[in-house]
Amino acid sequence: MSEMEPDVNIAAIAIAVNAPPPTQDEHSAPFWAGLAERRIVIQHCAQCDHRRFPRMPACPYCGAAGGDDIVVPGTGTVYSFVRPNRAMTPAYAELAPYAVATVDLDGGGRMFGRVVPAAACAIGVRVTPDFADHPGTDATAWTELVFRVHVADAPVSTLAAAAAELPAPAPEQ
Ligand SMILES: [Zn+2]
Repeated sequence: MSEMEPDVNIAAIAIAVNAPPPTQDEHSAPFWAGLAERRIVIQHCAQCDHRRFPRMPACPYCGAAGGDDIVVPGTGTVYSFVRPNRAMTPAYAELAPYAVATVDLDGGGRMFGRVVPAAACAIGVRVTPDFADHPGTDATAWTELVFRVHVADAPVSTLAAAAAELPAPAPEQ
């Protein structure tokens, strides 16, 4: 990897340091607990075979109560995204413009999450999940699911901006 081709896939993920922790309830708690352990938990309906996210008490496709928690790799393809130039909340102002995408998961189901580098986010690009820890106490620390763009198939026109967005990786010794 030369200096002209920074590998944005290995650069650190910037986080919104003032972002409040997510509000958790009985339905979302397993998802957040999974992220802290580097697992992506979504639900599967045994009645109709649909996968769903976020977790909810009944299947939105067939109405069956309950659902099975499954762990998925989280790889997928960007279905749609937004890239706000002005942050939706003050806590995210330092990250703007950031990208939040709906991702078509390999194997079915859709999730949403922030995409890095934001400038390389585009419909149809492949993404791989990663995890960004927000420090805090036991009660306030949380882990954010972030999708990293596969730079190899990102639109070439986005790469210079994407490289400039992230800190350079540490030089090799
Ligand atoms: Zn169902």
